[in-house]
Parts: sequence; structure tokens; C-alpha cells
Amino acid sequence: MPTSTQEPTIRSAAPEALATVALETGFSQWVFALRRTLFTTPVGWLLAMWFCWDRVPHQLIFIWLGVFSIVWAGGLWVLQGVIRDGHRLGRHRTRVLWVAGLDGFSWGLAAWFLMGHDPILDATLTALLCGVSAVNAPVYVTFIQAYYLQAGLMWLIAVAGLLGIAGNSHAIDCAVGYSVFLGLTIYYMRAIAQRVLEGIGLQFANASLAEQLRVALLVVRHDAATDALTGQGNRRALDELLTEQVDLAGKTGQAFSVLMLDIDFFKNINDTYGHMIGDDALRAFAQRVREHLRLGDVCARFGGEEFVVVLPGTTLQTALEVAERLRIGVAQSPLLTTPLVAVTVSIGAAALIPDQTAEDLLNAADAAVYAAKRGGRNQVRSIAALLT
Ligand code: GH3
Ligand code: MG
Ligand code: MG
Repeated sequence: MPTSTQEPTIRSAAPEALATVALETGFSQWVFALRRTLFTTPVGWLLAMWFCWDRVPHQLIFIWLGVFSIVWAGGLWVLQGVIRDGHRLGRHRTRVLWVAGLDGFSWGLAAWFLMGHDPILDATLTALLCGVSAVNAPVYVTFIQAYYLQAGLMWLIAVAGLLGIAGNSHAIDCAVGYSVFLGLTIYYMRAIAQRVLEGIGLQFANASLAEQLRVALLVVRHDAATDALTGQGNRRALDELLTEQVDLAGKTGQAFSVLMLDIDFFKNINDTYGHMIGDDALRAFAQRVREHLRLGDVCARFGGEEFVVVLPGTTLQTALEVAERLRIGVAQSPLLTTPLVAVTVSIGAAALIPDQTAEDLLNAADAAVYAAKRGGRNQVRSIAALLT
């Protein structure tokens, strides 16, 4: 188990970074919304045709529709390409803005081709243009710059067309009405768009905070189960693991063994070289033990210079073999070279017998260590061996 000596910290993401992410996300959302709204554009054409059919020369209607449908099809084609590029939507900002601008331009052309033939029709078509701007407002709300372009171009072309209708004072009324309507729409939309972007930013901030909390929790959980000096499991982790494994072995009937390791004459190391070197020796000892264990085996610091090795699915016979391997592994070379610190270890092995608790098992291993000490240290003993 790796150690972490660093305090887990919760940092919120930088506001500028969140604003950029919100802007990018707003842009992406708008691209998809724009495609959806282009699919509904023919509804507007049908309405315009229906209004104009008896009042406008048909060739004018078809010229307008011809220009518009070419722009419309091109726009959809560009959008499909951009959306296919998926995660790099931001790269295509200019292309998509062209699509929006040309859409506004095409709607504005309605004033040039369809208006000036009948005052009622002009008013109706002005209402249609207002309707188009109103429908677009929620579509463009996550990327209002594009709305300025689309609605602005539409307004510019339409108003120029309306003002060009000679001697027609109601055309000016239409232009004024349309301008006031658009002005108010933009006025209210700006505030809403601001809040929508803030909302998107907040979502990211929350998500990033949740992720940091998740990581911090993992670190805290890890630290709570880790011995700070040796990086092995601590007593709390050991107790939990033992209870869990004893339960499991009780249910499955699988063998389960533990080893208790007690470094021989460890006090001498502290007395000779001081506590710091004693600490280094403990770290090196834990490392040495780990090197001689399989992946599924767990080493935990029981306390002081005592460690417990948990061997799931292991019989006493195998546990004794592992213990002997550990004993030799510790004794065969010094733990530290400067200063030269070499130790031996006494090991007690115990296998779970039916109805034993985790505490019983540890007591048995402890008794075996005691026997190893009495027997002269640097040796392995087991409770079974004691009983015979
Ligand atoms: P024995 O062979 O009987 O086990 O002898 P021992 O000296 O190892 O046993 P004893 O229980 O007399 O002493 C254990 C020593 O381990 C005493 C204590 O200062 C030392 N110790 C316990 N925890 C730490 C630690 O975290 N760091 C250091 N440096 N020493 C520790
Ligand atoms: Mg001891
Ligand atoms: Mg000792």
C-alpha cells in the first residue's frame, strides 16, 4: 500500500477556466440547437408561401425560396460536417457563424422579395420575422454572439428592404415595430444568456468539486488504513481484514493462516543508533517482508516492531514454509548498510480452526512468537507444533 503524507486539499477550479469551459460548452450546445432549428425552417417557408400566394408574383416567391433553400441546404451540410468532428467543435466557430449569418440574411431577403405588394401582407410578414427572431432566442441562448449576427443581419437586410418600399408609410411602421421587438428580445435575452452561461459554469464547478471530494475521500480512506512509517496496513486495517477473512473462511471452509513477526532485540538498534535509524530499519524490514510475499498476502504493522502477515487460503503447513522463507530473507542480508544494521526475526504461525475468532487467531500466533523467543529467537514456531 503506497503512503500519502500530503494532506488532501479541496481546490475549486479557477473561475477563468470555468468561464472558458462554459463558453465552449455553450457553443457546442448551440451548434446542436442550430441544427435542430434548421430542420424546422421549412415550416416558416410554408407559412410565408401561404401568406404570399395570392398577393405576390409567384416567380418572386420561388426566387426567394430558391436562394433560401440553397443557403439552408449548404448550412445543414456544413453543420453535419462540424458535428461529425465532435469533440473539436470549437475549431469550427467561424464556419458555424457563417451558417447562422446566412440564415439571418435569407430571412431578411423576405422583405426584398415578398413585401411591398400588400400592406396587410407586409404586416403579417413582419410578424413572421418577429416570430423567427423569437423562436431563435432560446435556440441561441447558450451562444448569444451568434444571435447578434443572425438576428442583426436579418434585421439589417429586412429593414433596408422595408425602407426601400417607395412611398409606403406602413413599411416604416413595420420596420419600427420589428426593430422595437428585436431590441426588447435582445435586451431580455442578454440577461438570461448570462445566467445560462453561469449555470453551465456552476455545473462544471460542482462536477469538479465532486471529483476532488471523491479523490480526497480515497486518500483519507487510504491514509486511515495505512501505517505512516512503513506504508503497510495499520492495526485498524488489520482488524478489519482479519474479521472479514475469518468470516469468509468460516463460510467457505477454506484454510486461513496468519504469521506474527517480532524483530529480535530491536531495542538494541534504537539504543545503539538512535530512533531515526530504528525507524529506517523498520521501513526496510517491512519492505523486505513484502518482497517475500505473494500478491494476495497482506502485511500489516501490528504495533512497535511487530508485524502480522495475513495469508488467505493458506494451510498451516504452507504458512510455515512462507514464514521460513521470510525468516531466511530477513537474516540473509543486513537491513541497512550505513550504518550496518542486520536483524533476525522470530515468527509465530497460526491457522484458523473452526469457531475461532480473529482475536483467538492472533492470540495463537502471539503465543507461537513467544515460544520462538523462548526457543532462542530467529526461528519459526506454530501453535500446532506447540500442542504436540
Ligand atoms: P525481543 O527480541 O524480545 O523482541 O526484543 P526487542 O528489543 O525487540 O523487544 P522489546 O519489546 O524489548 O523492544 C521493542 C523496541 O521496539 C522498543 C521500542 O523502542 C522499539 N520500537 C517500537 N516502535 C518503534 C518505532 O516506531 N520506531 C523505533 N525506532 N522503534 C520502535
Ligand atoms: Mg515486541
Ligand atoms: Mg522484538
